Amino acid sequence: MPTYREILAQVKAEIDEVSSLETRDRLAQPDPPLLLDVRELEEWQEGHLPGALHIERGNLESRVEALLPQKSAEIVVYCAAGARSAFAAKTLLELGYTTVSSMSGGFTDWKRNGFEYETPKVLSPEQRSRYSRHLLIPEVGEQGQQKLLESRVLLIGAGGLGSPASLYLAAAGVGTLGIVDGDVVDDSNLQRQIVHSTDRLGEPKVLSAKRTIEALNPDVHVEAYQERLTSENVDRILAAGWDVIVDGADNFPTRYLVNDASVWNDIPVVHGSIYRFEGQVTVFHPGEGPCYRCLFPFPPPPELAPSCAEGGVLGVLPGIVGSVQASEALKLILGTGDTLAGRLLLFDALATTFDEVLVKRDPACPVCGDQPTIHEYIDYVEFCAMAGRGVAQ
Ligand SMILES: [Zn+2]
Repeated sequence: MPTYREILAQVKAEIDEVSSLETRDRLAQPDPPLLLDVRELEEWQEGHLPGALHIERGNLESRVEALLPQKSAEIVVYCAAGARSAFAAKTLLELGYTTVSSMSGGFTDWKRNGFEYETPKVLSPEQRSRYSRHLLIPEVGEQGQQKLLESRVLLIGAGGLGSPASLYLAAAGVGTLGIVDGDVVDDSNLQRQIVHSTDRLGEPKVLSAKRTIEALNPDVHVEAYQERLTSENVDRILAAGWDVIVDGADNFPTRYLVNDASVWNDIPVVHGSIYRFEGQVTVFHPGEGPCYRCLFPFPPPPELAPSCAEGGVLGVLPGIVGSVQASEALKLILGTGDTLAGRLLLFDALATTFDEVLVKRDPACPVCGDQPTIHEYIDYVEFCAMAGRGVAQ
């Protein structure tokens, strides 16, 4: 019977080996090879080559074809010292991969040479427990949860829509939530704005929301903007960098500002609006669908605008619409599923129906069209100024 050493020597004679130096040089050239790390999970987590893929040696045969369907791709396999990767390279050749080599000396040699490597961020035991129901979903998983923790979502408004949206985004572990709202908590808000409570009356909404959110999930950092969004501050607030904007604005001027800013800064907006028993949600994703102005190029003249003072809303309605907005925001961050870009979702709470209207980008749109005519922010007149604040969504 041959010994392990003899078998290893035999396998190494049947495959190609490259040194860590050759691998590094090859990676710097055009069309670099794919790197495949076949060590155990614990070894991978302690550090690995930048950009490498990972399949534990024991799972190689069953998983590699899903991860690397292109069998003609050039692959460099590595492990800790070059033995496991030699066996893995032989297996890949047997599976029909044509251009495979094993990195001699493995990660140990790579590190000893002082070459660059990266250490993946891992969830703490507390986070594993907190997000365990996410980790069980393949579309989220550990990588998706890390993405959420590193993501930044800006909420326009801490009112009816911002309440459920901010609470669910915080619970999901979105690491940074920006909240823009200049109002204070009023007792007429509490029928629907569940991020606030009776003991917060008179407190700025952004600070009340920050307290509730940080009590819910200490992983979440809240950046509070205690101001109303205007043409003066919109660029400063967006300059902080956001992956998604959740628009829960209760007025036309803010909606148009958010829209124009998002198109010019290339940030997707999850838009929601509510009135009495009816809600609407859609995603305005620059480059992937229409913007708000494709649907409503300009605000209606004040005499045609509905009197906001008469606008009532069923308390639970923003809970439903804001939760759909949170769901769309999470999908945008995770890059999974089909968003509402190009579709306007209509919810009727009285009839309990969801309908959908297809909406298209308008090539003549004044902001995202082929020949845009609007290049600067416009502060539209607050329609409801004469009739009071109107319904705070
Ligand atoms: Zn447009």
